[in-house]
Amino acid sequence: MKSTLLILCMITGGFILSQVDKYEPARIRMVKTQIMDRGLSNTAVLDAMKKVPRHLFIPKEYESEAYNDYPLPIGYGQTISQPYIVAYMTDIVRPTSRKKALEIGTGSGYQAAVLAEIVEKVYTIEIVPELAKEASERLKKYGYKNVECKFGDGYKGWPEHAPFDIIIVTAAADHIPQPLIDQLAENGRLVIPVGAPSAVQELILVTKRNGKPEQKRLTFVRFVPFKRL
Ligand code: SAH
Repeated sequence: MKSTLLILCMITGGFILSQVDKYEPARIRMVKTQIMDRGLSNTAVLDAMKKVPRHLFIPKEYESEAYNDYPLPIGYGQTISQPYIVAYMTDIVRPTSRKKALEIGTGSGYQAAVLAEIVEKVYTIEIVPELAKEASERLKKYGYKNVECKFGDGYKGWPEHAPFDIIIVTAAADHIPQPLIDQLAENGRLVIPVGAPSAVQELILVTKRNGKPEQKRLTFVRFVPFKRL
């Protein structure tokens, strides 16, 4: 397969559909100018961001803006994060091929797909039922067999699959849910935006050593609110 022409093949009911990915140049440019130029050099993360077709995770009307340097609406008052923030959060949790991850806030499924390109397994929870269903179908359609989605309140985590090496929360909470800290593995890394919903929030990294969680403040961000059922 030529790198300039990514052929997406989907086998559906016996038909083979192929489509030239006209957005690949925009995606490569996005990775260079928005991510590498801001100092992120983790090859696994850069490769995942080059690979995942972000334009297929957002509503058709915003498709041409998919690779721009800002978040976009995905319906139900929710947004897909700015590409750099996705890359930054993916990098900060140190993903590697043997790790198991939990994401709270599936949204479009894009962050889950980026993570799934690198880690062994991604579990992801979404509180808006329509988004949970759409993202689950989308991830299946694009062949992400190592992602498991469910509808629900991510506050409680997913105890059946704990502990997790990585936990990424993509909605802003006013505190870090204790069940998520409890479900973090030894040497695990959890990243979460913490702060008031209408204000700027702080991205917090929680690491666990000898069973003890430690917090580090990373940067300021703006996320949609963490909701409860
Ligand atoms: N990671 C997403 C970004 C989604 S925005 C992506 O790549 O597209 C944050 C998402 O978190 C929203 O879809 C919102 O509905 C969801 N959310 C908010 N509170 C939640 C909760 N308690 N549990 C699960 N999902 C939640």
